[in-house]
Amino acid sequence: MKARIGVLALQGGVSEHVDMLNSLGCTTVEVRLPEHLADINGLVIPGGESTALIKLLLRWNLVSPIRELAGTGIPIWGTCAGSILLSDEISEKDHIIDQPSLELVPVRAERNSFGRQVASFQEDLVIKGLDQPFPGVFIRAPLLYPLSNRVEVLCTVEEGAVFLKCENIWLSSFHPELTDDTRIHRMFIEEAVIGS
Ligand code: GLN
Repeated sequence: MKARIGVLALQGGVSEHVDMLNSLGCTTVEVRLPEHLADINGLVIPGGESTALIKLLLRWNLVSPIRELAGTGIPIWGTCAGSILLSDEISEKDHIIDQPSLELVPVRAERNSFGRQVASFQEDLVIKGLDQPFPGVFIRAPLLYPLSNRVEVLCTVEEGAVFLKCENIWLSSFHPELTDDTRIHRMFIEEAVIGS
């Protein structure tokens, strides 16, 4: 079966995910309205600016439809700002902030969490399930603090968790779509196909 993957296309790094998914043989759908969520078997929420993205999600009435979609069990993957949007709690410098989110995973995402990183950095990551290190590209990235033992951490760096899964929801604080390593996208597509 061919996977049909939606990519939230309100703001941020949309085309890089779309291009990588297309290159792997998926059909992609750019999601701007609730009706674009029909018939997809996976959804990617790209990086960008989480404060802008949540406003746009609210404005285009996408919050409840995405929550309902998550309840159907299809895989949903947030990269960087996308991972912030999926988390139950958002913090900045250890203070919980009052920023709305989709609240789909028991995780606290701490925005702009890497002190050493003004713009971006790359670090080889050891990821559960992958034999070889993965090139992790971090751009003003969050750290992800699990709030429940339902959360499975797939990768940690010195500072904390940067890739995790809770049932069908995946969060990565780095950007695989900005590399030419397709392994995580392929894992996601496999899960989308298996789940449908
Ligand atoms: N710093 C951004 C935020 O807090 C995320 C950056 C990114 O997605 N690359 O929303």
